[in-house]
Amino acid sequence: MQYHILVKHGMKTKLQSILILTKTASYFGRSLSLIERSISAIALSKPRQTYNLRLTSNDKRSDFENMETSSNTAEVNDNFSASLSFIDIGANMLDPMFKGIYRGKEKHPSDFEEIMDRAWSNGLKKIVITAGTLEESREALKLARTHPNLYCTVGVHPTRCNEFGQDSEVHLAKLRELIQDGLNDSKVIALGELGLDYARTEFCDIETQKKGLLAQLELAKETRLPLFVHNRETGSDLYDILCDNSHCFSRAVIHSFDDTIELANKFLSLNNTHPDKDIYIGLNGCSLKTDENLKVVEELPLNRLLLETDCPWCDIRPTHAGWRFVQSKFPTKPDKKWENGHCVKSRTEPCHMIQVAEIVAGLKGCSVKEVADICYENSIRFYGLQ
Ligand SMILES: [Zn+2]
Repeated sequence: MQYHILVKHGMKTKLQSILILTKTASYFGRSLSLIERSISAIALSKPRQTYNLRLTSNDKRSDFENMETSSNTAEVNDNFSASLSFIDIGANMLDPMFKGIYRGKEKHPSDFEEIMDRAWSNGLKKIVITAGTLEESREALKLARTHPNLYCTVGVHPTRCNEFGQDSEVHLAKLRELIQDGLNDSKVIALGELGLDYARTEFCDIETQKKGLLAQLELAKETRLPLFVHNRETGSDLYDILCDNSHCFSRAVIHSFDDTIELANKFLSLNNTHPDKDIYIGLNGCSLKTDENLKVVEELPLNRLLLETDCPWCDIRPTHAGWRFVQSKFPTKPDKKWENGHCVKSRTEPCHMIQVAEIVAGLKGCSVKEVADICYENSIRFYGLQ
């Protein structure tokens, strides 16, 4: 068993290094007495480096059991995720929750910068900011330009398609202009989110959603950008529209997938019937809630999966079927009691990518690293990134 530990502030003594190990073990939810363990090597005194602690069965148990486990001297950051590579393909980073505002009420100061730091130090290599309206697309592009590893989509969510109004050409022209702007510095890397949502027609009726989708498929044809597709309870309607308009695009991800294996296979079959197509299924916490969800994921091929958090939404809860595979947990507080260095209960962040990977790994019976590596490569290929 091997843990990867990020040592902060320079650990000066063996006691401190053992404290890290102790806290790491409890962080992973494993009691020390159950772990076969020893520290075979730790470099002390070099701060902010990742060291491998190899746990073997040869060492004396008493070495650990006699140690005190509470100490303020060692800051613990057992950072296995730092050794992984993730691209969060669906992060709603414009959401006010990341500024401490929940349903219109400020509950704590903005911790946006801290969230970003936490992402980068937990294996996130790139984050794609999701936009759902023209205005959000503008904001997303602005935000993407503040950091070299942030990117964004441009597009109109199915529930927001009323914004196309009477003259969809005018609206489309504005989206087109924004895309051209964002293509200049390669910050806009996908169209979306676009698609259909029959679960929330109170915001936008089905006919308007379909018109908005078709209008944006024209943009796809012009720009050849990959599609970030939203599909909720549409039967095979969305699939049928994508099939009928398959000349408009070559790459698409059906994000936040929570439908049947039959529908997933239909989307993926486009890869076989159309040699120019590259279609993926996007998974986040909402795709891993129920036993039925998990059965679907079990059957999906790893080389067709992209991972996402859909943050701040789609948190993975103890009541969810996928929870039993989650090993990495982050210090968390309720929004009202937020403190520096803590995530917020029910608010997902990009750093939670590892939990999605852990569940997929558990279902596939392979290592988290293998899942992370394959999905990272899939994402790079999908976006045409380097
Ligand atoms: Zn969506």
